[in-house]
Amino acid sequence: MNLLVLGPQGAGKGTQAKRIAADYALPHVSTGDMFRAAIAAGTPLGKRVEPILAAGELVPDDLTVALIEERLAETDALDGFVLDGFPRNLAQAEALDAMFRKIHRSLDAVLFFDLPDDIATERMLKRAEQESRPDDTPDVIARRLAIYHEQTEPIVEHYRATGKLVPLHAERTVDEVYTEVQDALDALSGSAAA
Ligand code: ADP
Repeated sequence: MNLLVLGPQGAGKGTQAKRIAADYALPHVSTGDMFRAAIAAGTPLGKRVEPILAAGELVPDDLTVALIEERLAETDALDGFVLDGFPRNLAQAEALDAMFRKIHRSLDAVLFFDLPDDIATERMLKRAEQESRPDDTPDVIARRLAIYHEQTEPIVEHYRATGKLVPLHAERTVDEVYTEVQDALDALSGSAAA
């Protein structure tokens, strides 16, 4: 299964993506995690993107698209993946469409974790107390949510038009949301088998 998770920061999509990846034996491909790993390892990419992540801005599309193209070509991703954090704007969504056309692949579902901003902010501030992500300060959280609405939200319509969008109720508990995810994925594999 080729899956995409989409939604604002704080929607819990990373948590759900990890759970799906574990249960369905798919690699969890998270651009945010990949950038943070590059920063931790001090690679040239890491050095370049560190101030961008700290400010809550988007890494340039050429770097991000190249990273994903390489990652999805790795053996463990050939039978499927859970893509998390990419695409984040229309240009990236179009680059992904083009990439898939070239290799004759397509997305099976786009899981959309929708959440009002006030709940998203509240959850991120709570997370900030538990983890210590440098981009979880109130200013940077506000900037990341603004970019989400400006640049990422328009791709919801892009995927709705493909008929692959699966809207979920992300304000519910982790277990409740995961039950919705499983129902959606079971329906998908049921229809694929039929
Ligand atoms: P969140 O969804 O909580 O913002 P992520 O881990 O998905 O966290 O991303 C962290 C940061 O990594 C983003 O704020 C951005 O700077 C960078 N990033 C991740 N994915 C992309 C992408 N597809 N395009 C550009 N920048 C990205």
